[in-house]
Amino acid sequence: MNGAGGQAAPHGPRPDALPDGNVVLLGGPGSGKTTLLEAAMHDLASRPGAGALFVTSSRQAAVASTERLLARVERAAGGGLSCVTWHAFARGLVTSHADLLPYRGEPRPLSGPEQWSLVRELLLQEPPVVDWGDLEPLVRTRAFTDELASFVLACERRLIGPEDLEERALSLSRPAWRLAAAFLAHYLGHLALADLVDQAGMVVQAGDLLEDHPDLLAATVAQVGTVLVDEAQELDPAQFRLIELLAGGGARVVMAGDPAGATDAFRGATPSALPERAARLGARTVPLERSHRLGAMGLDAVRRLQASGPDPAVALRAGGTTTRVEAAHFPGPAEEADALARLLRLAHRHDGIPYGRMAVLLASPRRLAGPVRRALERHAVPYRLGAGERQLLHEPIVRHLLDLFRLALDPGRADELLPSLLTSPLGGLDPRELRALRRAAVLADQPLAEHVEAPTADLGVEPPVASRVAALRDLLGRVTRWASELEADRCFWEVWCHAPAFAALVARAEAHPADAGVVRQLDALTAFSRTLGLFVDGRPTATMRTYLDVVERADFVSDPWLPSSSARLDAVALLSVHAAKGGEFDLVVVAGCLEGALPRTAWPEGVFEAWRLDGDLGPVARARAVLDAERRRFVLAASRARDRVVFTSSRTEGRGEPSRFLAEIGLDPSAEAGGGDPTPLGALEATGALRRVAADPARPAAERLAAVTTLAAVPGVDPSTWWWRRDWTVDPEPIAPEGRLRTSYSRIGTYEDCHLRYFFSSVVGLDDRTSYQMAFGKLMHTVFELAAKGETADDPGSLKAAFRARFDPAWFPSRAIAHQYWRDGMAMLELWHHGEAETARQALRFEVAFEMEVAGHLVRGRIDRVDRTDDGIVLLDYKTARSTATEEEARRSLQLAIYYLAALRDPELAGLGPPVEMQLVYPAQARAGRFARVSQRPGPDYASAVEQRLVPLLEGAAAEAFDPSPHADCRFCAFKTICPMWPQGEDFLAPVQPSATAARPGAVQPAPGGEP
Ligand code: SF4
Repeated sequence: MNGAGGQAAPHGPRPDALPDGNVVLLGGPGSGKTTLLEAAMHDLASRPGAGALFVTSSRQAAVASTERLLARVERAAGGGLSCVTWHAFARGLVTSHADLLPYRGEPRPLSGPEQWSLVRELLLQEPPVVDWGDLEPLVRTRAFTDELASFVLACERRLIGPEDLEERALSLSRPAWRLAAAFLAHYLGHLALADLVDQAGMVVQAGDLLEDHPDLLAATVAQVGTVLVDEAQELDPAQFRLIELLAGGGARVVMAGDPAGATDAFRGATPSALPERAARLGARTVPLERSHRLGAMGLDAVRRLQASGPDPAVALRAGGTTTRVEAAHFPGPAEEADALARLLRLAHRHDGIPYGRMAVLLASPRRLAGPVRRALERHAVPYRLGAGERQLLHEPIVRHLLDLFRLALDPGRADELLPSLLTSPLGGLDPRELRALRRAAVLADQPLAEHVEAPTADLGVEPPVASRVAALRDLLGRVTRWASELEADRCFWEVWCHAPAFAALVARAEAHPADAGVVRQLDALTAFSRTLGLFVDGRPTATMRTYLDVVERADFVSDPWLPSSSARLDAVALLSVHAAKGGEFDLVVVAGCLEGALPRTAWPEGVFEAWRLDGDLGPVARARAVLDAERRRFVLAASRARDRVVFTSSRTEGRGEPSRFLAEIGLDPSAEAGGGDPTPLGALEATGALRRVAADPARPAAERLAAVTTLAAVPGVDPSTWWWRRDWTVDPEPIAPEGRLRTSYSRIGTYEDCHLRYFFSSVVGLDDRTSYQMAFGKLMHTVFELAAKGETADDPGSLKAAFRARFDPAWFPSRAIAHQYWRDGMAMLELWHHGEAETARQALRFEVAFEMEVAGHLVRGRIDRVDRTDDGIVLLDYKTARSTATEEEARRSLQLAIYYLAALRDPELAGLGPPVEMQLVYPAQARAGRFARVSQRPGPDYASAVEQRLVPLLEGAAAEAFDPSPHADCRFCAFKTICPMWPQGEDFLAPVQPSATAARPGAVQPAPGGEP
């Protein structure tokens, strides 16, 4: 993928024609900088006794250069040919000469998440390591940790120590920096004491070694001889310092870069740094003026963009290629993603461009990665993600594996984790099989997690499905033991050896070595195994629980990774703009070119404003600097294609203007793109198009007939597999065997509101939502119970600690919502402590499960708390929702009525005394200094009134009467799209005449669609 493309630049200087001494090669995109450096590396490696070190900015670029050099290895006589990153070079120095640094043992490099965790740990330390003063309320927030963790790295990259930072704080009147300086001193001291080193510190310490030990510097210089530096415009001050030390020690330095292409400003790279540092080294400048990649419109676009900013160091000339530049605007992200996937597919099919020579660059990966990946999969376009585009622990196979460990260590999370595990490669079920299993669980009247524990023969699903469920259950049982007894890497090894899914994966890789998906999974598992090995190296005896603790505390769960074999696959590269640095392709689509995304001009400023470390700009100069940096990012995206670059954009929720940079290069994407080339791509699309024509009554009969005839000739078309052709289904198993229904009060409450919703959720098992509200409610119930039973001390600190230990921000869809619930939880605990705890401590029972017979049916449930009063018992149910029911609603509540009946009929409850009141209790609302509550009180002959209300419901559900209710509360119903009471569900259950075989009422009837 790299710009060198494996070819020597035909018109550039040869490596042996470069001037002696230090040299800086300056040139724009595609001018052959990397090619020239690689040629120089190859020449040096061919000469006996001549050493060379090739250093570049990213692992991806280092791997690409190494692969190209190794491809020429038969002609190279000696020397190492591997290229490294600055971090790898520094790590080699530091770990080999740790005895010269103030370490007591072996230094242990910190990964990104570990560094974040350490900062968080220091911030939460009691007593605090720094008196944060006015910032104190922010210190416990994750955003503060995020900012401080990157701020300390920013200081290290810029060689700014605590004293220097404090001086700057005083001279620039930035009090927050004074506090950060105190923290930095403490942080660095902690690293030193614990023999730890973070990523930026590694480069700093390598510089310290070379500076303080002339003999080591001399030996390093003798070994490396010539230092070849690629992407030199991205160097930060700590890296420049290494270069200057090596050059000062006698090494020859050849740097290549494009000052106008510096995009790593957040790391401390500035456009002016390379020329200035080159001048300090006395380097002679070699301009590379010809672009071997860009021509015609492509080169013109880059020139126009660069004309709006500072002058480029070297003006580019065309090198004989022709690059087309286009733009298209779409109504929404789905259309944009679909159009670009079609474009790539057509370019491959019609123009013969290999997928490996194409790339999609995402201006906003968060917004577009999902739609684009789905569109590529829909159109069968193979793709690969680049380094940094996905973190290792976000790889699906690794994520599933971690879920397996999480579930083994915390069975209480079964509701949340088990369904996705069952449909993962480890479980091997497809969604339909999972639904069947859910339904079997519903019929057995038990949660899914309990149901999978049943003997294999009783799982209620087809034998092959049952055996896969049993295999996962057995694996889970063994993982429970391994995860708590073995070190993390050995635990993984046992799973690797015993999980049938992994044996199948290896077999698939052997049978289909070019299968990109399989190769990526194996690469990810290998990388994960290595990560665990490194983790355990630094913490002997660390178990999987320790590992999960570390990664779950961090906001970002792992470092980016580079699948070792992905670059060789013939697949479209899906990258962020930043990760495309150094890349060259034939066709590039730059997606998401919207104002706000590219350029992105609004950044959160934060407390410490790390950007001010490079100069205290005023607001106007700062805005200009941000825009210039974004323009350089756009130039980077616009200059990756040899033949064609297409910029696309789309509105989000009706908003979004195309990027201003498109106008700067003379494109007008304001008009929305039409349907594009309608040629069907593949049999699926073709049959879909033909079926639409055949089913369209507005079309001429001849056209429809032609469509049907063509359809019949398409290979693989089998109308019997089209869903509308299926006949009515009749389940031979009645829902209530022998007319006896087993249900719970909440389910029968749903039935009372709407029979059809009960059918969808409780009979078919479609409602698998485990909402964050439910998780939060469960947590609050647990904390209240612990406190009332005295298992948690009833002081605010202990209550909050119990809450904190169980609160998981990952339940919530966003940090903002998690924060809101955190605050709600804290407020509830406060109110509990002051107004509820005393009464609760005198409660008779908590979490009482009941079971009772009602007219031959079984009704089960659980009551949160039972209090005693002078004349009987009070039954309570906590509701953690913010809105409270009215007194009238409580009076009519079926749930409370069932509680009453249960208190009379369940032997345990009946022994506690007569029920005199049933309450719905709202911890989120205060009333008279305690939890708000509304209640129901039994009147005379209340039991028979409740029975009169309940029995018809039980009988109706047992008789499978499942009509939708016109009076239902549909506001939060998940089934509107398949409910005939709503327009969107009309097609699903359109009125039909059931066939004679439709045996029972309530069976869901498929409708004849508009298809042929
Ligand atoms: S949308 Fe309303 S009527 Fe339809 S199933 Fe849901 S609650 Fe019942």
